[in-house]
Amino acid sequence: MTPITPLEQALHTARALVLTDLAEGEVAEPDVVSMVEASVAERRWWVEQWPEGSEYVAGLIAQDVQDALLERHGRWPLCPVCGSGDPHALDVEPELGPDPQWVCHKAGVRVAALGSLGTATTGGPDEGFTSS
Ligand SMILES: [Zn+2]
Repeated sequence: MTPITPLEQALHTARALVLTDLAEGEVAEPDVVSMVEASVAERRWWVEQWPEGSEYVAGLIAQDVQDALLERHGRWPLCPVCGSGDPHALDVEPELGPDPQWVCHKAGVRVAALGSLGTATTGGPDEGFTSS
């Protein structure tokens, strides 16, 4: 029995967030899931060398999967904000930091937190609620 370390927990969370967004884009196919697994395995090694990086793994795994998908399937995730023009993918920001977000550099907006793409495409902006 191996206890669940914070490192394993971070990797588990990262994997779940990326898979949630993949499912939203309807690309959570078996070969795509294995891309995520491959990235998680690679980042496990990386974060074992540098435990302070554990809060960065979610953003890094998302970027790994983006790169892998670009080669084999195409752009992911497509920007849900820009209705016209060339279809383009969202970017992870920060590239190396905690609390990764999907952003559209074209529109210059934050679209959703990693793992929350579903709420970005189906729901409207829930900001702007003011009370005086
Ligand atoms: Zn866009």
